[in-house]
Amino acid sequence: MLSKKIEEAFNKQINKEFYSSYLYLSMAAYFESKNLKGFASWMKIQVDEENSHAMKFFDFVNQRGSKVKLLKIEAPKTSWINPTKVFEEVLAHEKFITKSITELYNLTQKENDIASSIFLNWFIQEQIEEENTAKEILEKLKLIKDDQATLYLLDKELASRQDANQKK
Ligand code: MG
Repeated sequence: MLSKKIEEAFNKQINKEFYSSYLYLSMAAYFESKNLKGFASWMKIQVDEENSHAMKFFDFVNQRGSKVKLLKIEAPKTSWINPTKVFEEVLAHEKFITKSITELYNLTQKENDIASSIFLNWFIQEQIEEENTAKEILEKLKLIKDDQATLYLLDKELASRQDANQKK
């Protein structure tokens, strides 16, 4: 069993991962509305990834004989000024998630729950990747500025992203 504190914190993290999924789905809808299909497709893969993060916590809480409690998912915003603003928000959000995972890790250390600390290792590594990817795309968008032709090329590039299951 997880300690009560860890159980509560992991349930909150399940909610944060599902919120991430919901936020990226809203961003996918924004890109669809702007006819940026590659960006939209990239975001939809991100949605699947976030759902799988939530499910990793879901399964772990169950495996430890603790209780999963699904909390209310807040509605994400639905519009952005431009793609650069979207990716600024992605990066800020991923930094927020990294902070949350780090706090969870510190809590498991404090509670002397080694299995939970080891479980969180994967997420700590994953967050490095999530932040780097968001940063990379954001830097490209900043270079592109208002150049629609280059934005079109980046849209094509992002369309080629495959989900993790297809890569295997
Ligand atoms: Mg995540």
